[in-house]
Amino acid sequence: MREKKLLWKLLPPLLLIVFAALTVVMANAARAMRRFHLDQKEQKLIRIAQLMESDVRVSIEGYDRQRLEDVSGRIGANFQVRVTVVMHDGTVLSDTHEDPSEMGNYSQRPEIIGAKTGRAGRSERYSRTLETEMLYVANPVHSGQDEGGDNAGSLLGYTRIAVPLSPINEALRNMYRRLILGAFVAALFTASICYLITRGITKPLYMLKAGAQKFATGGLGHEIQYTGISEMNEVAAAMNGMADDLNERIRTVRNQKNEIDAILSSMDEGVIAVDEDGEVISINQSAITMLDINPTAISKRPLEEIIRNSELSQITESSLSKKEPAKGEIVVGRGKNSERYLRVSSAPLKDSRGACLGAVIVLSDQTQIKRLERIRSDFVANVSHELRTPITSIKGFIETLQQEDEGLSEDKRRFLDIIASQTNRLSAIISDLLSLASIEKDAGSDGVELQKRPLCGVLENVLEFCHHRAEARNITLEVDCKPNLKAMINPDLLEQAVINLVDNAIKYSRPGDAVRIEAIRKNQEVVIRVIDNGCGIGSEHLDRVFERFYRVDKARSHKLGGTGLGLAIVKHISMAHRGYTELESTPGKGSIFSIHLPAS
Ligand code: ADP
Repeated sequence: MREKKLLWKLLPPLLLIVFAALTVVMANAARAMRRFHLDQKEQKLIRIAQLMESDVRVSIEGYDRQRLEDVSGRIGANFQVRVTVVMHDGTVLSDTHEDPSEMGNYSQRPEIIGAKTGRAGRSERYSRTLETEMLYVANPVHSGQDEGGDNAGSLLGYTRIAVPLSPINEALRNMYRRLILGAFVAALFTASICYLITRGITKPLYMLKAGAQKFATGGLGHEIQYTGISEMNEVAAAMNGMADDLNERIRTVRNQKNEIDAILSSMDEGVIAVDEDGEVISINQSAITMLDINPTAISKRPLEEIIRNSELSQITESSLSKKEPAKGEIVVGRGKNSERYLRVSSAPLKDSRGACLGAVIVLSDQTQIKRLERIRSDFVANVSHELRTPITSIKGFIETLQQEDEGLSEDKRRFLDIIASQTNRLSAIISDLLSLASIEKDAGSDGVELQKRPLCGVLENVLEFCHHRAEARNITLEVDCKPNLKAMINPDLLEQAVINLVDNAIKYSRPGDAVRIEAIRKNQEVVIRVIDNGCGIGSEHLDRVFERFYRVDKARSHKLGGTGLGLAIVKHISMAHRGYTELESTPGKGSIFSIHLPAS
């Protein structure tokens, strides 16, 4: 639809109404005026006809044509009219302008027909004789009128008086002209009034519009002025109220945003918010520093474009698509000294109705911790390495001393046995510490070497390694693994991990129990489980048994020759395979230790 200004919508119909009303009034006035003038003229002509009525009657009754012509001529000349006397049968007796003998029969003239009713007849028409518009009035003439003047006698004829209409028309035209002029002035006046009224309506509307535009461009402090129209004032009041309300809300939101910005920028952790398409909505200073990115042109760009790190993209993508939290570790920066280790936690960003809007990624810098861990690990590795030679040498001397049969008292032999057992423990601890250090080192640098290999072979090796120990404790070992089940593994390391688990299962089971080793494929994982019916572990220890040197029952562990490092080694080997460990256990009933590896 074509848009028009309100002024042009209101003004033309108003003007149309005014002009239509004026036209109707003018047309009626003109018609009434014409009617009035013609009636006046008619009355005048009737009076003239009545003036000569007696002369006409006498002349007709006495066939005095001369008298008739004299009277007609005098009256005609005096009043500037045409006088025609017509007999009752329509024969023209006299006429002031024409020869009656050439005028034919007048019985069918409208004014004569009108006068046959006994009253004056009238007609306006064009006279071919005089070639002008004429007003004709015919007055009936009766014989033998009584004294009261009533037309009681028989109809003798008619006195017809005619005048040209041109003077009346001219007078009327003058009047019309004035009327039109007056109407034009009235129209102009009413048009101006209409314009002012319309302006009166539209002006406050324009003020409202200007106010609304100011609000829309942020000028919420602006106040729309009140006008003389109460409805408009109500709208203005509502809009002013709305603007105040909006201003207040924006102030609150801005304050909240400032607070959130202040909190985010003072956080040590990096925080990035992305929308559901992975485009950055917000990023704090710590994240910019950690990722070493250019702070300009970050907003509304995909995160993977800003920082090209496949692990980070995978974690973000995973929490966006699965709408679940995701975690991981990434390394950013190139070169040995500028590398940063970041722990990444990504959680879906949800609105109040639970709809996913994107994700929040929190980065925490682990570089310092990693460095300290490396120092610790190096230290432990160095110490273990340094201790290895003296311990081996001590072990050798003890063995030599133990082999001497003579000269050793019973007590000395017992002491030597104790020293030998403690040295063996020390040696086992050092060996485990070195294993751990080596796994950590391999996993930390280029990662351990993984190959796609069947798990059956690994588990059979474990069985072979452990079956003597199991037999010694009267424990049955069962292995269940499909021959075609493969995974990306480092066979030696995985074997070591499973041996540790099976060794524990044997150690912590009762004689006669069974230990089951199984490997299955579950969803996207390959799971190796070691299941025993042994003493089990209390729920309070479940979270900690994979820590170094954590033992549930210290005395029992010592007695069984445990180092407290077996499960820590299992955990690190699983991590080196990009997997993890799990433990389900019920005290008195047994435990299930599982190693989860990603399926290739
Ligand atoms: P340890 O050399 O002492 O066995 P590990 O790291 O292998 O050290 O195990 C840590 C602790 O976890 C053990 O001391 C033991 O208390 C407990 N544990 C490990 N495996 C089992 C098991 N299969 N059943 C019960 N307890 C176990």
